[in-house]
Amino acid sequence: MTAIHSSILSTIGNTPIVRVNNLGPKNVELYVKLEAFNPMGSVKDRLALAVIEAAERDGSLKPGQTVIEATSGNTGIGLAMVCAQKGYPLVIVMAESFSIERRKLIRFLGAKVILTPASEKGTGMAAKAEELAREHGWFLCRQFENEANANIHSETTAEEILSAFGGSGPDYWISGFGTGGTLKGVSRAFRSRSPNTKIVVAEPDNSPLLATGIRQSRNPDGSVAASHPGFRPHLMQGWSPDFIAKLAEDALDANYIDGFQPVAGGHALECARDLARKEGIFCGISAGATFAAALKVAETAPDGSRILAMLPDTGERYMSTPLFEGVAENMDAEELEIARSTPNYRFDVKAKPAPAPAVKMVEPTRKALQFVEAVTSNQSEPVVLFALEWCEFCWSVRRLFAAAGIDYRSVDLDSVSYQKDDWGGDIRAALRQVTGAPTIPQIFVGGAHVGGATETFDAFNSGDLQKMLNANGVAFKATGLPDAYSFLPKWLHAR
Ligand code: PMP
Repeated sequence: MTAIHSSILSTIGNTPIVRVNNLGPKNVELYVKLEAFNPMGSVKDRLALAVIEAAERDGSLKPGQTVIEATSGNTGIGLAMVCAQKGYPLVIVMAESFSIERRKLIRFLGAKVILTPASEKGTGMAAKAEELAREHGWFLCRQFENEANANIHSETTAEEILSAFGGSGPDYWISGFGTGGTLKGVSRAFRSRSPNTKIVVAEPDNSPLLATGIRQSRNPDGSVAASHPGFRPHLMQGWSPDFIAKLAEDALDANYIDGFQPVAGGHALECARDLARKEGIFCGISAGATFAAALKVAETAPDGSRILAMLPDTGERYMSTPLFEGVAENMDAEELEIARSTPNYRFDVKAKPAPAPAVKMVEPTRKALQFVEAVTSNQSEPVVLFALEWCEFCWSVRRLFAAAGIDYRSVDLDSVSYQKDDWGGDIRAALRQVTGAPTIPQIFVGGAHVGGATETFDAFNSGDLQKMLNANGVAFKATGLPDAYSFLPKWLHAR
């Protein structure tokens, strides 16, 4: 890790294998492989790079061509990183049921996210990606059947495990499956290089697919014909979609699987929380589920067994899911007791008055007074906000104006261009004289002073602001807007 990387892409893989010390029986050795250490926090970074580079090599992906994929999120996040680095536009198709964090991460990385109805399940999401790829001539990654997905796990994940365990591999290796890329790739390598490693596949207990022995129904071209009869909605995002992927089926047909371990959703959540609280290992729901399966295996494994569970991703993308249910935003009784155990900085004790803001008490300069006059009387920019960049009240006014579609000039008194010779301070002094108010923001419409943030919110709520806007020919959205005070940040509401 001391090398300088030529790009983010060479930081993918080589994830740590960590001993679990405080959970599970003492007669076995429990280990976890932490795929959260990949740059975008999941095992799917490996596949993202592998699929794109394989397509570059065989010519199926052309420079600048749009890439598209159907994914429950982590593949999309990994692809977004790879495509950002390599300069490919990316479109991700995702069922609406996957966590909001994933959508936002993908969009933050510059890709587009197309949502499909949850009722159409994983098959619907995949079919939509096919349809868009066909229509627009985009490169479809096909993670569920792309051999590059399994190959990268044989070449990297399995090799990392074998080298860490000294060549002979662990006694048990536990994994769930989504595409089955991890499962097929690692277990294939183990069968030839570490044949004594027992491969245990974890599935949601309410939604067994492989363990049912029922084959996936397919169309003549190999595509999925219908949902698998074993499928039921479950908590483990990224695991067991409503069909058996080609790569997962390959692992089954090649007899790579030595056993199945069903996992209850509640136990998966509990294990993810235990890993966090008792080991300091922060991971997602499918990771908790894989660890839950490892604990079950540990119950009957011979003394001294070395058991390795794959933990596919980080917990940070599950804040809006049942994993974080019961994790409070506000202080609970114990925390309040700690807060009250010393006298100051408390919500129930009045704060000492804050020192007055550093407003120049000097007489305003003629130049600053002229500036305020010129800015507020400019008829081509009738709405003026005198603001500070860091100020939350100013942000709230900006949010209100943005929601109402009001164009305005913002004079940011603390911005770099107003800092020279304290020009911003001079203007504040002038504003104080003109408005009689020492606070920022101050808002003007058509040369008339509206007031600070609260006066502006009041004027908006009463309709007076809209009258001023109309009188000055300023366009705005007239209906469907909430109480202006709702644009204040939550911590200010409480005041
Ligand atoms: N867990 C999570 C959170 C995932 O996103 C995925 C990938 N869909 C998996 C597990 C399963 O990995 P694979 O696709 O390699 O079977």
